[in-house]
Amino acid sequence: MTDKKFSTKNLHLDRLSKPEHGALHKPIHTSVAFGYENARDLAAVFQGTKNGYAYSRQLNPTISALQNKITKMEEGIATLAFSTGMAAIAATMLSLLRAGDNIIASSFLFANTRSFLSTLEGLGITVTLVDPTESKNIEAAITPDTTIIFVETIANPVTQVADLAGIGAVCLKHNILYCVDNTLTTPCLFLPKTVNASLVINSLTKSIGGHGNALGGTVTDTGLYDWSLFKNIKSSGNHSEMSQWGITQIRKKGLRDMGATLSPESGHRLSIGSETLSLRLERACNNAMSFALFCNKHPLVTQTFYPGLKNHPQHIRATELFNSFGTLVSINLNDKIDCFEVLNNMKTVIASTNLGDNRTLGIPVAHTIFYELDSKQRESMGIKDSMLRFAIGIEDEQDLLDDLNQALEQARGMAND
Ligand SMILES: *Cc1c(COP(=O)(O)O)cnc(C)c1O
Repeated sequence: MTDKKFSTKNLHLDRLSKPEHGALHKPIHTSVAFGYENARDLAAVFQGTKNGYAYSRQLNPTISALQNKITKMEEGIATLAFSTGMAAIAATMLSLLRAGDNIIASSFLFANTRSFLSTLEGLGITVTLVDPTESKNIEAAITPDTTIIFVETIANPVTQVADLAGIGAVCLKHNILYCVDNTLTTPCLFLPKTVNASLVINSLTKSIGGHGNALGGTVTDTGLYDWSLFKNIKSSGNHSEMSQWGITQIRKKGLRDMGATLSPESGHRLSIGSETLSLRLERACNNAMSFALFCNKHPLVTQTFYPGLKNHPQHIRATELFNSFGTLVSINLNDKIDCFEVLNNMKTVIASTNLGDNRTLGIPVAHTIFYELDSKQRESMGIKDSMLRFAIGIEDEQDLLDDLNQALEQARGMAND
């Protein structure tokens, strides 16, 4: 599924960065501060003229090893880690946007990102939400104030695939910063850099960490953007090269000043989890494909959303862009079937939010993630009251199919009673 380089690189990165005593893992450094024999060196680290650690809110050796891993995975030039994916998104936006700016984003955004954009509106930033499956919608929305275009690779829960390459070309033409949230695909399935993304967001909480035991998020600079043309960049007093201006500003404003730092313990868990990313995804994506094919044929399922299905509106695009189709499968059930019953009947699948866990999780979306919207708004997003979203894990494939089958049969029985 992925080239050999991805897994190999990923597994050997810590060792090649020469940790103490030849340790194969970068150890968990819990020290908040770092001491210097020569105080001038401490000053040089503060001033950015010398590499080193001063205070762990900004940089810590365990976190720096994780950042390097993500940079290598995304084939970028620099990465900053944060306590959660949302912290990475918020810090990036708050560092780079000013009142009066406009952001164009996908109308199918992850619900919390969408909610955060409404917070930005309160700060005088205008937000335009458009259907990103056609880049012409994005281009038509551009104004002289448009500063960032923000999209996700595969939308959650209806799995629309953005016109990632088309939008990249639009951003290049208009010199707009292109920020792609790669969480649903991860660098194992898709490299946003290949479609001209300037910044890449990953929630490490999901597939990269993979075990549902630590929160974390990153922003990676792909090195493609000419920061000297970005109107909100502060380059004076900036010792770094122009390529580092963006990440330096996010580090200073978004990480140092806002302080949503990733803890070394969580960083270590995420780093260990990331070692098996390609293995886990290969299994989970295969499971998701079988699960989606099963749903697609089942008489009680009226609609199945999965980019791997031939009847998915962006199936060809997904085939061209991604190494596989991800782990998210959503279904709409026949009106007579109660989605709560189906989920309650399931024995392997757990009723839970989150995705990218090793375990398969299911959630009735209309009643949870989108309960604050009215049913008309939900319908416009393709979300029926009967929708179930499954985040497929790495169980044995047949067990998942059997579990759904018996849950649906039992629910059918109840509907007929
Ligand atoms: C979960 C998620 C986030 C937020 O990540 P957290 O680590 O939970 O804060 C952002 N974007 C997408 C697409 C996600 O699925």
